[in-house]
Amino acid sequence: MSTLTQHLLARIEAHGPMTVADYMGEALLHPTLGYYTTRDPLGAAGDFTTAPEISQMFGELIGLSLAQAWLDQGARAPFTLAELGPGRGTLMDDILRATRAVPGFHAAAQIHLVEASPTLRAKQRDTLGDQVTWHDSLDTLPDQPLYLIANEFFDALPIRQYQRGSEGWHERLIAMRDGALAFALGPELPQLHLTHRLADTVQDNIVETCPQASAIADQIGTRIRDAGGAALLIDYGDWRAQGDTLQALQDHAFIDPLAAPGSSDLTAHVDFEALAQAAPCAHSRLTPQGVFLERLGITARAQALAANLSGAALASHIAAHRRLTHPEEMGNLFKVLALFPEGGTPPAGCTT
Ligand code: SAH
Repeated sequence: MSTLTQHLLARIEAHGPMTVADYMGEALLHPTLGYYTTRDPLGAAGDFTTAPEISQMFGELIGLSLAQAWLDQGARAPFTLAELGPGRGTLMDDILRATRAVPGFHAAAQIHLVEASPTLRAKQRDTLGDQVTWHDSLDTLPDQPLYLIANEFFDALPIRQYQRGSEGWHERLIAMRDGALAFALGPELPQLHLTHRLADTVQDNIVETCPQASAIADQIGTRIRDAGGAALLIDYGDWRAQGDTLQALQDHAFIDPLAAPGSSDLTAHVDFEALAQAAPCAHSRLTPQGVFLERLGITARAQALAANLSGAALASHIAAHRRLTHPEEMGNLFKVLALFPEGGTPPAGCTT
């Protein structure tokens, strides 16, 4: 039994069952035993691979979309170029390379990263050097125009789960059964914040909320409303979360979410409707990642890069293009929501 499992069981013995959010928070970010705090989970040798690790094209096109939005809003200086949960720093590195030729962009950009993991902060420093500032949360971002990217960040934020009862809702909890972690249900209580889910659920259905995601979307939207800017929020999920989407990945395979806290990646589908509603600025339509990248010209970029490749490198480049865009790969599962000022236009790749 892992040390983190023992720690969680002791906590349940002392304080009673815990919410799914408390479990996720401990499993991912416990200061010494958490999944992200103790490792770099990305890539072939890790547990999962993300779009920027698949191809440089992903970050390049995002960089150009954000730079175009900055130009369209008057190229104000200085501005914040921010990333939430930057992993190895690959996406920001690709953004910076692609935007080098945009006049004034680099001179005006102040790069701010929100990252909780010391291990990944060290990786980000290896990739990006000392030109960046790290933050624990968005609270400390400067008050100036904000151009922000978050890829596979919101899916890592702790969710709460509620199962509909005959009158109210039971919160889904994590308890101890036969000496092991097990799901349980809390007492049936009214949940006013779930009233909007009465029309699309029936008894025993599970709905999820992510209070931290809504709070962060509010912070991003408030800065965009007050100082200008744009945000691209990219994740797997849909307009509205349906059912139990908590999942765990280890060695690129799904496992029981309670089996290996601290050594498996725990995520949940992102409820983009909740993000859009929490942000006090305009939002785009929810756009499939494949459509977004095609609109930004990924096919032309792929062909330009292919001209210098042959053999295995060419085959893997073609596979990467397909993996990012094809509806049966990441093209449809992953979605993009853009935030931008009321009365403005959405960043390139997104529409209203
Ligand atoms: N965006 C990167 C990495 C995705 S993995 C990519 O696409 O490759 C999730 C990232 O979010 C990691 O860097 C992780 O350490 C960070 N993270 C998770 N929860 C966080 C939190 N609550 N606050 C800040 N960073 C967090």
